[in-house]
Formats: sequence, C-alpha cells, structure tokens
Amino acid sequence: MRALQITAPGTIEVRDVPVPEIAPDEVLVRVAGAGLCHSDLHVLHLPEWPVPNMTLGHETAGHVAALGANVTGFTEGDPVLVYLVWACGVCRQCVEGRDNVCATTGGRLGLPPCPGLGPDGGMAEYIKVNARFLEPIGDLDPVRAAPLADAGLTPMHAVNGARHRLNPGATAVVIGVGGLGHVGLQILAATTGARVIAVDTSEQKLELAREHGADLVLRSDADTARRILDETSGYGVDAVFDFVGVQPTVDLATQIVAPDGALRFVGLGGGRFSYNADGETTPLPWGVDVRRSYGGTRADQRQVIDLAKQGKISIDVRTYPLADGPRAFADLEAGIVPGRAVLVP
Ligand code: NAD
Ligand code: ZN
Ligand code: ZN
Repeated sequence: MRALQITAPGTIEVRDVPVPEIAPDEVLVRVAGAGLCHSDLHVLHLPEWPVPNMTLGHETAGHVAALGANVTGFTEGDPVLVYLVWACGVCRQCVEGRDNVCATTGGRLGLPPCPGLGPDGGMAEYIKVNARFLEPIGDLDPVRAAPLADAGLTPMHAVNGARHRLNPGATAVVIGVGGLGHVGLQILAATTGARVIAVDTSEQKLELAREHGADLVLRSDADTARRILDETSGYGVDAVFDFVGVQPTVDLATQIVAPDGALRFVGLGGGRFSYNADGETTPLPWGVDVRRSYGGTRADQRQVIDLAKQGKISIDVRTYPLADGPRAFADLEAGIVPGRAVLVP
C-alpha cells in the first residue's frame, strides 16, 4: 500500500509499504481521510525524529476492513474515527476520565502514544488500531470527520476546561483561526453563551471566522490588545484560547485576559511567558488560571462527534490525493489552507 512517511528529519515521502498485520485485539481500518495538523509540521522540523520511516497522520477516519480474532462490537464496513489518545485505560487518571494525561503511558512531561506520532498513523491506505481506540461515526462523511480526532477533540477539551467562565455575558477570544481555531470558535458559539472574538493574521482566515459565527473578527497586529480591551471597557476577556503559541500571540493572550480569566495555551509556536510571583511586576491580573491544554479525553471526543452529528459544527476540508501529500504540507506551511487539509488515499 502507499503511505506518507517521515523518512529523515525534514523529509517526507510517499512510499510503498506492506499492509499492516493485525493482532487479535486490533482492527484494520481502510482509510477514507487523514487530516494534516500543524503539529505534523513541527515534527517535520525537529532536528531529530527517533522513529525510522514512520507513517504520519493522527486524524484518521475510515471503514473497518478486517477484525482481529478477539474483537467484538464491530463489523466489516463500519465507519469509524481513530481516537488520538492511546492511553492505558486503567491507571487512576484514566479511570477518572483524564486519559489524555495517562500516568502509565504519558508520565509527567510526555504524552500517551498517538498514531502518526510513534505508532504508524493514517496517511496511508490502511491503519491498524487497537479496537479500544475506535469511535463509531454513523452517518458522518469520514473524509470530513477525520479532523474531529484532533482539530475537533483539542478545542473541545480546551473549551470544556474553561466552561465555568463562558456564561452568557462573557467574552472569549480565539487566537488563530486555522484547523483547530475554526472548530474552536464553532464549539464556543454552539455550546456557550459567550461572545466570540476571533483573531488571525490572514484575511482569508478572518473571513472563515465570520462564516463560522464569530461575533467580531480582528487582524492580529500591534493594536489588537488595545482593541480587545476597549471591547470590554478595559477589564479584559473571560477566556483566551491561543491556538498559535508564537510570541506575539502569547503576549496578546496575557495582555487581554481579565481577572479570574482562563488562559488556555494550545498552540506550540515556541512563545514564552513568565510568571512573576510579586505584587508589582506581574503582567497577570488576579485569579487568572493557566492551562497547557493537551488533546482531549474520550468524553471530549464523544461530545465533538455528537456536535458534528447534530450539524452544530462543521469542518472546512480541502482534500488532496495521498500522492500529493507533500503539496498539502507545503500549503499548510504557507498558511493558505482554509480549515483542514485532508489526504485521501
Ligand atoms: P494551522 O496552521 O491550521 O492554523 C494556525 C493559524 O494561526 C492560521 O490560521 C494562521 O494564519 C494563524 N496565525 C499564525 N500566526 C498568527 C499570529 N501571530 N496571530 C494570529 N494568528 C496567527 O494550525 P493548527 O493545526 O490549527 O494547529 C495550531 C497549533 O496548535 C500548532 O502549534 C499545533 O502544533 C498545535 N496543536 C496543539 C495541540 C495540543 O494538544 N496542545 C493539538 C493539536 C495542535
Ligand atoms: Zn495535531
Ligand atoms: Zn492510564
């Protein structure tokens, strides 16, 4: 079969590889679509990648093609989404429903295994998955549903973790209306009472934000913090979701958050933020809580699938044939993919 693999730091290739062989507890999924996340670009640009010839793709949906001997509950042809977080399922954190911070498979600073970031991912004709990590998607189009595994899951988790600040009357800011951000703002619009302000550097992305229900869209520049503070009489906003994480957005997030506000860092753009534990020089208002938000739990995954089934959120998808994967990577890097790029084998 064909698979898009990282073969050396900075190098991706579409290669011929064997169809995976499944163990008794695994399912072979015929891939319908595999989303391309900005994290794939971060991985590509790492100076070293420890897994030789790894198939990328951590947002995958498709149809069950074959079942291991011990698998029950699925039949051939079932449409499924591959859940991102391959956690142990039995540690205290998993049992508490916090499987995205699994103690056994992630540990303190790591994260549980993800397909396409260790085990082979979905940018291929087939992927093998332990049956525990499959979510049925019913009538959803698997090509459009694939990004629910991360571009849906991760904002769902970030919003759920700030829901106590998102009452009617509140204001939320989404920074970065890319793959994650354009879903995040729809989740905010569909499930909270907050007014939503969207910020991006690209006019094309701001147009997308308008289409998806942002109440106000602002171009990201040196004046954005003042504009947002003006919108709240100088007090600041109740929740900030930074889906970029570069220095200008980390600075913006800390400059606009209100007292008791929720600061949610999702993007991994390398920006820095320091906390001064004193009464004079800290840039943060009292009561702000900061979360380094990772992925999402199994409950977040179910919820975002259900929002899509109800038609309350939809992912803008630009499809590319798997063979054109390198072009999709280049387009994402150039910032010209509206919504999510999805590779179709
Ligand atoms: P994307 O490329 O689809 O979107 C990024 C968006 O940010 C684009 O719309 C771009 O125009 C915008 N942008 C760039 N610079 C900006 C600036 N200075 N101000 C405002 N907007 C700006 O990326 P994505 O796939 O949505 O991923 C976003 C980030 O989240 C990446 O860093 C990715 O690695 C990270 N990520 C984190 C998690 C997690 O669990 N924490 C999960 C998935 C992705
Ligand atoms: Zn991702
Ligand atoms: Zn666990």
